[in-house]
Amino acid sequence: MDRSMMRKSVRGLTTYYNPDVGNAIRMDTNVNVLGSNPAAEAYIEGLRINTNTYPNTYSDGLRDALADLYGLKRDNFVVGNGSDEMINTAFTTFVEPGVTSVIQPYPSYSLYSYFTQLSSGIMKEAELDEDFQLDPDAMIGKGEDRKGVLIMPSPNNPTGNCFRTKDIEEILSKHEGIVILDEAYSEYARKTMIDKVDEFDNLIVCKTFSKAYAMAAFRVGYMASNLKVADMLNSVKVPYSLNGISEGAAIAALKDRSFVERSVSMVEEQRPKLAKKMETLGFECYPSDANFILARAPIDHAKLVEGMKKRGILIRDFGTKRRTENCVRPTVGTEELNKLMTDAMEDIIAEESR
Ligand SMILES: *Cc1c(COP(=O)(O)O)cnc(C)c1O
Repeated sequence: MDRSMMRKSVRGLTTYYNPDVGNAIRMDTNVNVLGSNPAAEAYIEGLRINTNTYPNTYSDGLRDALADLYGLKRDNFVVGNGSDEMINTAFTTFVEPGVTSVIQPYPSYSLYSYFTQLSSGIMKEAELDEDFQLDPDAMIGKGEDRKGVLIMPSPNNPTGNCFRTKDIEEILSKHEGIVILDEAYSEYARKTMIDKVDEFDNLIVCKTFSKAYAMAAFRVGYMASNLKVADMLNSVKVPYSLNGISEGAAIAALKDRSFVERSVSMVEEQRPKLAKKMETLGFECYPSDANFILARAPIDHAKLVEGMKKRGILIRDFGTKRRTENCVRPTVGTEELNKLMTDAMEDIIAEESR
């Protein structure tokens, strides 16, 4: 048994980030620091279900709730097991193995290249400018790449900034292939392009309950697009992929959006404070519209992340990657969590310079 048994196109893949967590405080995954979603918790408390029935094939209940929220139709939506499944579905639908280019900005979300390999697409990267903004011409590409699949998160991960709407719209109108806009953090930016799915017929907006909705445990993600594209996506998506408990919890969460509002306001208040404090410690913080901050460390990134871990706090390390050299990406916490983090940082930096 060796890896030569594997399909050639996936042989190079390795397992994903899977840290030994223990009791550490997780400021490394950008989930909601206010904890569980109360409406989802209330829904599962004392829940009685018939374990012997399949959920609805395409999660119609949740699709109806989403249609209500955004003023679209049920059939504009595709729902599944996290936006990761949604991205995989979109690639399986539109990437011709060995032929189609998948173009993503750099630096951006590392899982895009994983899904590109799964679908045997040809990965291409379009360099972001100095301010981590898009170069529309580079994204759109030339020749056959004009029909490729584009994917980008806005706000971008790990840089934190939103891309300019005018750049995204230029890309949508000039690019001839599918454009996936991954809005995993869009609640924090109070900005979405989901209302544009009928204006741009190549637009797929991908969203998740994992971040601002505080429901990563349930694995719920969805896409919105015009009716024709959504029908193509639903024909490819794994049937029943979203389990019934997760679907019910997501519907419950959509009925009580006050928790999300409270979470977003908290981040808006704490983000500048955290950045300011980190800057006094010598970090260089990049502007963020999300619930995390990309920051260049004043000491060696690995020593910082290791020191934080020893003090029981995990933050994400991007220090060995091009463009984010020596950078870390902490999630924005509550006032208390941020103090814990910056006290630990201060301590480690002082220790290093002794
Ligand atoms: C966290 C994250 C997601 C969410 O993925 P899920 O599968 O819905 O949990 C998607 N895209 C980006 C850029 C993310 O950071």
